[in-house]
Amino acid sequence: MRTELAGKAVLVTGGASGIGLACVRAFREEGARVGVIDRTPGDGVEVADVTDDAALASAVATVAGRLGGLDVVVACAGISGPVGKPVAETTAAEVAAVLAVNVTGQFLLVKHALPHLGDGGAVVLLGSDSAFTAAPGMVPYCASKGAVVAMTRALAVEVPGIRVNCVCPSVVDTPMARGDLGDVLDDPAFPVQQAADVARQVLYLASPASRPVNGQALLADFGMSAR
Ligand code: NAD
Repeated sequence: MRTELAGKAVLVTGGASGIGLACVRAFREEGARVGVIDRTPGDGVEVADVTDDAALASAVATVAGRLGGLDVVVACAGISGPVGKPVAETTAAEVAAVLAVNVTGQFLLVKHALPHLGDGGAVVLLGSDSAFTAAPGMVPYCASKGAVVAMTRALAVEVPGIRVNCVCPSVVDTPMARGDLGDVLDDPAFPVQQAADVARQVLYLASPASRPVNGQALLADFGMSAR
């Protein structure tokens, strides 16, 4: 597939780690110019918390100014919240924290990026297969990813000229998944994809190759949900 992304201006949140970092590398390999926002400092990272409306607005403006506008926005900043915790022990604050990053954070990113996105721009949000397939002990996370899928559709119909889609991968070998699942990832019977696999899914949704695709959730889960 020719991605036709050379020279494009791309903003990636959460680009300091995992899927975001793989996206940064993949877009750069395609010749795109990439800006990164993350709460974790790093080389070339514009530091901002995606839940901080004013800080995010300023970081997006800085990156868009540096790149001369935006063609593609990828929302990889995310957290998993409580894992393996029964509902009875999960607090309102824990639920709010997950929704703040995974839902409001992605919403605010789109809101602040829109004025910089030209006609034909593409937004790729990070859902998860958890939006479709229950992951036990992760109710707040599953709820947040279901919201991302619904938000994807709602944004796609509201914003003319800009395509909005989301990727919904199953477990990806990243620091987040290592922290949540540990050595399970090394079990050859456990289906695991790599961050670079997800980056290729993102490249597709960001490129003109997916021109008619809008408001969709790309469920990439080795067919597990089809069983
Ligand atoms: P990761 O922890 O490796 O990377 C997440 C990045 O987001 C980090 O660099 C972190 O600093 C940044 N971040 C977190 N909260 C932030 C905030 N408030 N403001 C700014 N930056 C923030 O995680 P990952 O596995 O690469 O996850 C990326 C996205 O992919 C998340 O939305 C996650 O839910 C989703 N996802 C992950 C998996 C998986 O199995 N790893 C599967 C499906 C979907």
